[in-house]
Parts: sequence; structure tokens; C-alpha cells
Amino acid sequence: MADAPRAATAPPFGRGARLVIDRDALARNYQTLRRLAAGAETGASIKADAYGLGASALAPRLLREGCRSFFVATPEEGADLRRALRGGEGDIWVLNGYDPAARRLYVDHRLGAVLNQASELAGFAASPAGACALHLDTGMNRLGFSSGEIEALIADPGVLAGLDLRLVMSHLACSEDAAHPMNAAQRDRFTALAARLPAARLSLSNTGGVMLGADYHFDLVRPGIGLYGASADTHASHPFAPVVRLEAPILQVRALKAGDSVGYGASFTAQRAMIAATAAAGYGDGLPRALSGKGFARIGDTRAPILGRVSMDLVVLDVSDCEADVRAGAPAVFLGADLAETARLADTLPYELLTGLTQRPARVYEGAP
Ligand SMILES: *Cc1c(COP(=O)(O)O)cnc(C)c1O
Repeated sequence: MADAPRAATAPPFGRGARLVIDRDALARNYQTLRRLAAGAETGASIKADAYGLGASALAPRLLREGCRSFFVATPEEGADLRRALRGGEGDIWVLNGYDPAARRLYVDHRLGAVLNQASELAGFAASPAGACALHLDTGMNRLGFSSGEIEALIADPGVLAGLDLRLVMSHLACSEDAAHPMNAAQRDRFTALAARLPAARLSLSNTGGVMLGADYHFDLVRPGIGLYGASADTHASHPFAPVVRLEAPILQVRALKAGDSVGYGASFTAQRAMIAATAAAGYGDGLPRALSGKGFARIGDTRAPILGRVSMDLVVLDVSDCEADVRAGAPAVFLGADLAETARLADTLPYELLTGLTQRPARVYEGAP
């Protein structure tokens, strides 16, 4: 009896999309950032479950690549991350501020508390929970000690006595725009304020700040988006390798004739004969509905434009220009090297696209753990 024919393309698919995450690309991006920030320590922002890509699957690799400082948003994320690191080395800093009600999480999982305002410092000092950092607001007006609070602290540094103050940090509002005057203004303000506070390591830069050059690196940088293969500026080129691609199997291929419409609302009507392929990815997977009539997938090397609306589970692609015969089972690839362009077409950022990926697509991790 002859063997059943094997699919010539990708490994077998179910009826839904899968999210392929390349840990070797993540590692290359980490080393790229490290080279760019040479002289400073390179940490990793791994909040929001590593921008939706799976902190527990990625953090151990970053640790193996030499990363020793991780930034998360909440103590719950910090506790999960410490477990993913198997309790091992690496500092974990919680960016969203300190609440004494969560003290046990900080102690049990050795989390570093980033203190964002005087009331948090008071709550922390009343019963310290390990290492702490001060976040100074230098103009973003989002989180951090205000000017008034910083002056009060400088006037009475006794409030910090006995605390394990490891880090003084701030955050750039416009780092993706190298020409923006706020960058130098925030950097200079940060330098001036830090000089008047007790000595600690200094940290200012996210990915954009790393790209601004050595003046912005201080002791520790904390990039996120670059690790995951993108930059905040969706128009600029960047040195980061794609980490994530959404692979959707084609479920059906059909011929359209002039006058046929496609999908909900019949928002696309063929002007000529075309070949349409229905792929198993939709906004239920995190493919934005805003890509309706605008986005595209790659099938092999060819761009296949989205026809009509993106629906919850499905999207229809124009495969008329695909050279190879497009068949059911072949993968249509979204994101990948097209992440920035896709974000732009959806009127959003790679950050939101990545964190908007849902739990439905099966996650497939490539590369060493
Ligand atoms: C998210 C975040 C970062 C990382 O920013 P990227 O632009 O993703 O590199 C760094 N620092 C703080 C305070 C953040 O909130």
C-alpha cells in the first residue's frame, strides 16, 4: 500500500491560524541592542506577557543571552516571570508602582519596587520589601515623581535612609523621533536631578532611546519593542529581525467573475475575473478589522491583498497574482517582515498589534529555549 501523499508546504495545519515565534531572532535582537548600548547593561521590557508573545517562553532565552534585568508592569507579572526563570537569577522591576497590599509578592518573588510618587515611597519605607527604584518624571507626565516631590526628596533625603535604592529612572516621551527636542530636554533634566539624589544606577532608555546614542544609555537600558522585531517609528528602517508571524491555512480557493462581491457587507466587488482564497485568520486571532480592504498576507513571495472585510475567523485574499497554484492547506503569512507596514495600514503600532494577538492561535516556538 502506497503512503498517503504528504503536504508539500508547511507542516500540517489544523483549521485555524498559528503564531510562530522565533526565539533565535529574539536572541539576535537582544545582541543587536547590546551592541548598540555597549558600555551600559541591556535589560528587557517583558511586560504584558512579553508584548503578547509569551514571557515564560522567552525570558529563559533572554537570561541565557546574558540579560539580567527584566521590567514588568505589575507584581503579578513579576511573580509569573520569577517562576518562568525557575526562581533563578535576574532582577525583576515592577514599573507600575508600589502598593503595600502586594508586599508579599515582592518579598516571595524578589521583585524590585519602582516607586512612582511620594506616597508609594512612604508606604514602601514603612516596611521595605527588598530593592527599590525611583522613577522621576522628566516631562512625560504619566508616571514618576513630580518636580515638587523630587525637590522635597532632595531637601530631605533622610526619607531614603536604610532603603536599598538601586536604580533611578525616567522614561522618554518622544524617543522614536530622533529630531524631537524633548529627547535632549528630558535627558538633561534627568542628569541634573539624578546628580542631586543619592547615588544609584541610572536608566532612561527604551528601544528608541537606545537608538538615540550613547548620551542616552546611562547605566541600564530597558528596550522592549526592538527585542520583538520592530521599532516605534513604523516609517523608519531598523536593525531588528522579525520574531513573529501569523500563519493562517487557506481553507478554500474560488474563482470570482466580474460583479461578484466578497464577504460581509459585500464591500468588495470584483471588476474582473480573479482568484480568491479564504484563509483562517480574523479579528478573533488579533488580525485588526481595520485591515479590511487594506492589508495583505504573503503567500510564498507574493503579496495577497485582503478583499473586503476581515471577519472574526476568516479573511479573503486576492491570490490572482500568486505564481504557484494556491491550494487549500497552504499558509498565508501575516506580520513577519511586514509587521510595521501592517501596523501602519491598520492605523496603529506594532506594540498594539502584538499585544492584541489573542489566545486562539496556537503558539509555536522556534529556536532554542
Ligand atoms: C514599555 C516600556 C519600556 C520599553 O519600551 P519600548 O519602546 O518597547 O522599547 C521601557 N521603559 C518603560 C518605563 C516602559 O513602560
